[in-house]
Amino acid sequence: MARVAVVTGGTRGIGAAISKGLKAAGYEVAAVYAGNEDAAKALKADAQCHTYKWDVSDPKACADGLAQVAADIGPVDILVNNAGITKDGMFHRMSFEQWQAVLRTNLDSMFCMTRPVIEGMRERGFGRIVNISSINGQKGQMGQANYSAAKSGVIGFTKALAQENASKGVTVNCICPGYIDTDMVAAVPEEALKKIIAAIPTGRLGKADEIADLVVFLASERAGFFTGAVHTINGGQYIAN
Ligand code: NDP
Repeated sequence: MARVAVVTGGTRGIGAAISKGLKAAGYEVAAVYAGNEDAAKALKADAQCHTYKWDVSDPKACADGLAQVAADIGPVDILVNNAGITKDGMFHRMSFEQWQAVLRTNLDSMFCMTRPVIEGMRERGFGRIVNISSINGQKGQMGQANYSAAKSGVIGFTKALAQENASKGVTVNCICPGYIDTDMVAAVPEEALKKIIAAIPTGRLGKADEIADLVVFLASERAGFFTGAVHTINGGQYIAN
């Protein structure tokens, strides 16, 4: 029977590429989204993925949603915590709502989504968790104190969880993409984007498929010795290690 993969934010951008990549690799894929029905329909039609709508920052919605996935398709073997949002602004003008919304969706979601599946993975002796952080969680980014804090938190969470679960066959890795050509980056003002691209040694934005290819590898049986690692994919923009 095919292994079951859940991809949060799996219907658009990087997440859609991950959902399609995992489906093509032979997994049953459940893509979780927030509300964009057109993107969810498109993914279902293009890639025959299952789609589920819930808020990844709501612990009850996640527990109920994941129980439904298990009932519909089977227990979750692979979890890709990819959903994320930005609400940028200089910190001295940032509201608590801007702070909290970003922390909830990008970091609370790690608890809400992972807690309901981790015990089952440990019991079955197999699990793959891939958390999507960001270059800006590694280096910090002006105008993104909220996002940088959340994405740094994702790195710490990954490292701790990896240590707790390695002996149970559950690996936990994190990917820090640089700037990838998705709706999130399309929201960056044109002038700012030009400066960003000029600072990328490869001279271009990354592609969602480039992130998806690594997720597919990390999800596989043969990636069992990769755990607690922070994988940087950023065209050389920030060389972290
Ligand atoms: P997009 O904005 O293109 O897509 C975001 C996805 O997350 C959508 O499917 C959206 O659902 C879903 N989502 C957002 N909030 C929630 C929520 N509360 N509950 C459930 N689903 C939610 O994002 P990207 O593909 O650009 O980014 C994906 C991840 O990669 C994010 O974590 C981001 O921070 C990270 N990243 C992105 C980079 C980039 O350059 N694009 C660079 C570095 C990191 P819906 O479609 O319904 O709105």
